[in-house]
Amino acid sequence: MSFTLAIVGRPNVGKSTLFNRLVGKRLALVDDQPGVTRDLREGIARLGDLRFTVIDTAGLEEATDESLQGRMRKLTERAVDMADVCLFLIDARAGVTPTDEVFADILRKRADHVILGANKAEGSAADAGIYESYGLGLGEPVRLSAEHGEGLNDLYAQLMPLADEYEERARAEAPETEVVLDEDGEDAEGEGEAIASRTPTPERPLQMAVVGRPNAGKSTLINTILGEDRLLTGPEAGITRDAISLQLDWDGLPVRVFDTAGMRKKSRVQDKLEKLSVSDGLRAVKFSEVVVVLLDAAIPFESQDLRIADLAEREGRAVVVAVNKWDIESEKQQKLRDMREAFERLLPQLRGAPLVTVSAKTGKGLDRLRAAVEKAYEMWNRRVPTAQLNRWLAGMVEAHPPPAPGGRRIKLRYMTQAKTRPPHFVVMCSHPDKLPESYSRYLVNGLREDFDMPGTPIRLHMRSQS
Ligand code: GDP
Ligand code: GDP
Repeated sequence: MSFTLAIVGRPNVGKSTLFNRLVGKRLALVDDQPGVTRDLREGIARLGDLRFTVIDTAGLEEATDESLQGRMRKLTERAVDMADVCLFLIDARAGVTPTDEVFADILRKRADHVILGANKAEGSAADAGIYESYGLGLGEPVRLSAEHGEGLNDLYAQLMPLADEYEERARAEAPETEVVLDEDGEDAEGEGEAIASRTPTPERPLQMAVVGRPNAGKSTLINTILGEDRLLTGPEAGITRDAISLQLDWDGLPVRVFDTAGMRKKSRVQDKLEKLSVSDGLRAVKFSEVVVVLLDAAIPFESQDLRIADLAEREGRAVVVAVNKWDIESEKQQKLRDMREAFERLLPQLRGAPLVTVSAKTGKGLDRLRAAVEKAYEMWNRRVPTAQLNRWLAGMVEAHPPPAPGGRRIKLRYMTQAKTRPPHFVVMCSHPDKLPESYSRYLVNGLREDFDMPGTPIRLHMRSQS
């Protein structure tokens, strides 16, 4: 389980309602010992692809006398101490009450991480309360309606980075991805190791976003891959999950597809979210590993497409460009040449990224798209052993030595890959500030070519070592 979330707040704000919505029937622990434990409930929550433990401080009445207030405080403190993250709920219709202030105070002092939830936020009756809740000093409130299941994707968006953080921490403890350098700049893997990568599994699927303008064909694409109209019909129980992401088996490749405006639009229950917004695409980019930028062949490379492709690159995602509706294109050869030319001119930062023509409607080209996605993921995860990198660096320096400003040649001493996803390389260098940008580009382009990583966002840092 990745992390523990405590739902706290005064009685009647909707904690149990939200708890039940997150946990459903998956109650992990029902302790019916009278008295003590009844008032903390624990369950396994499911939100999108997140699984976490949730605890609820239910079972309290409004604190009217002092002993009850004391109990409420104790219980909350216990929940806070047990949790990694606290979701502090207020009743947005009632506005901020003095009891809420007491809770806010406890949380500010005691909790590592607080998310403020303004519940009962369906409709405009909640607007004043939401506005008021900014005054609690706990950041921007998440608008929720536990009863109607609204705002859960915003809650998801808040929790997702935290989940990543906890996962990252767990991974750092297992020495699988981070390289620790010893004195010589060798990593623990030593010599002779092959270039390593990672294969998606059903437990750890490839996370993919399909982004693009409205009507580019995103929903059609995903439905065709699924082979059925799942997006349109998800069963009631699975709604929160399906509205946000969806796991599928793409001819043996486990993939989780993240929500895009196009998917949402078709989701029957999410009608409140019908409005298309760029921010949906942006969020999908943040959650994904591979971003498929889906263009409409009739109107390719519009500014919205360019913006999101650029964002994906800057966020360090692997990018695949797919040109859709290829079935209705008549001058295919000429069109493809034009598209490649436009791609290079308009998105030079994505040089080398694959451009695949598809028809989401007929399914033509989807096998090539699948292969491109898998390959992009593989490159993005690639790890080049230090020994190989250093032999390569020596060759690069010999072929084209760095400049010698003021007669003193800049020395590139050694190099290592500090991170994957996307690949980050660090070069230890005598005067990094004097090394021209063009030399870094020479190295990055060389890395792409020699280690077969076209189109992956490669990060290269020069670090000082004299
Ligand atoms: P708790 O005491 O904080 O656990 O609150 P409950 O979950 O028991 O909810 C208190 C009351 O608020 C119940 O009558 C719920 O039906 C109602 N409630 C919970 N969530 C919402 C919501 O999103 N909107 C509205 N209008 N009522 C809600
Ligand atoms: P979204 O807004 O990006 O999710 O786009 P949709 O999947 O809703 O598709 C928009 C329109 O384009 C629909 O009328 C689809 O039938 C049509 N469409 C999608 N893919 C293709 C394709 O490959 N070929 C053709 N001819 N039409 C397509």
